[in-house]
Amino acid sequence: MSDSLNCDVLIVGGGPAGLSVASHLADGISSIVVHQDAEIGRPVRTSGGSFLRDVRALGIPSDLYQVIDQLDFFADHEQASFCIENDKMVVLEITGLYRYLAALSDPLDRKLLLGTKFLSTQKQQDGLYLSQVRSRAKGTQTVRSKYIVDASGWHSAVLDSLGLGHKPERMGVGIEYEFPRGNFAPNRAVLFVGATALTGYGWIFPTVGNTLRLGIGVINPDTDLSPRQVMNHFVQDGHAARYGIEIPEDYEVNAGIIPSVPYESKLVYDTIIRTGDAANFASPTVGEGIRMAIEQGRHLGRDLSAFINGDKTAFTRYETRAAKKYARDYKYGYLMNQRIAGYTPDRWDQAVRRLARLSEREVTQMLRSNFSAGLILRTLYLSLRSKFFG
Ligand SMILES: Cc1cc2nc3c(=O)[nH]c(=O)nc-3n(C[C@H](O)[C@H](O)[C@H](O)COP(=O)(O)OP(=O)(O)OC[C@H]3O[C@@H](n4cnc5c(N)ncnc54)[C@H](O)[C@@H]3O)c2cc1C
Repeated sequence: MSDSLNCDVLIVGGGPAGLSVASHLADGISSIVVHQDAEIGRPVRTSGGSFLRDVRALGIPSDLYQVIDQLDFFADHEQASFCIENDKMVVLEITGLYRYLAALSDPLDRKLLLGTKFLSTQKQQDGLYLSQVRSRAKGTQTVRSKYIVDASGWHSAVLDSLGLGHKPERMGVGIEYEFPRGNFAPNRAVLFVGATALTGYGWIFPTVGNTLRLGIGVINPDTDLSPRQVMNHFVQDGHAARYGIEIPEDYEVNAGIIPSVPYESKLVYDTIIRTGDAANFASPTVGEGIRMAIEQGRHLGRDLSAFINGDKTAFTRYETRAAKKYARDYKYGYLMNQRIAGYTPDRWDQAVRRLARLSEREVTQMLRSNFSAGLILRTLYLSLRSKFFG
């Protein structure tokens, strides 16, 4: 059975990006978010590391994150520990946060279709898009809209359907086990690299709900192994004890995918606009993308409203603002990402030894993918020093 819906803006994807676009569209502009999952914020496909300053600036309530001020890096034979005084980190409570973002939209203006998958779209002669969406409850429906926002994450479902883009050829693929925190300190996070994490890295994050998220991400196709295989080795070889954790028999499994490709500034294709992971806004060093998805999604909601209301410069503003914020830093970040993805465990030992010589600020800047000239010079200097003097 086929039935038809109309709106100004069809938003594909109900993750942080799509929900933030919806909540920041102006009154009088109608939107429909189609989200293929049956619930907002479940299943969890991400681990939620971010920065306190930024989540406060976004107005996220403090019961939705755990503050982290101790950060430990481990390679196979080296360790570097930092007390973070100034630029503290957080671990976001994903399901609660995404539901909070959804609740920022007035349900009267903004339709949210859960369990509904965007299939394809075609531009009609009148300039409107006719999109096919499918749900178990309603079968196939068509949505007629003037604009489509591709907020479908790594799927890039809309751009893919129109041949304007495609799914990324290089991807970070992650798996996470979530279980009670036990004695692990609630303010401490661990990042580990080397033989236990191959092309990617591992993390241990405590949450506000007193759980721990133990995750491993690898880059495909840089390695053929899946994160599950790498995690199985991690568990079987008993590495957990080194970080002060014990993995119980029962745990929840979270898994997800993030693009790992160079940043491209083009975000607008006539009346199709991409945002969030579909626009590759996540940082190339550690794959942090939630705050970017919220921030840029909110900008897009406002800019798209301005465009619809006659401001023809609004789309350029959206593209230029994002490029100014990310293009330069992400170029260096991506180079670093490619380089370190090929590190052997020995090289990781050297890298963590160098890391220990950086200041707290330099480390957080690197995690943020903020590459000032000073930071680039200093890491280069430390790299040369370790090459020649060990
Ligand atoms: C393993 C892992 C760990 C990560 N860790 C962190 C971290 O610590 N901190 C951080 O900030 N970021 C992290 N990220 C990145 C972060 O998850 C993303 O940057 C962020 O989720 C991007 O938001 P988004 O809304 O653009 O996309 P998504 O969160 O991917 O949301 C897109 C949604 O669209 C839906 N969708 C896709 N196709 C369709 C379709 N055809 N029809 C309808 N719906 C569709 C999907 O089901 C999905 O829910 C991690 C990612 C992974 C994979």
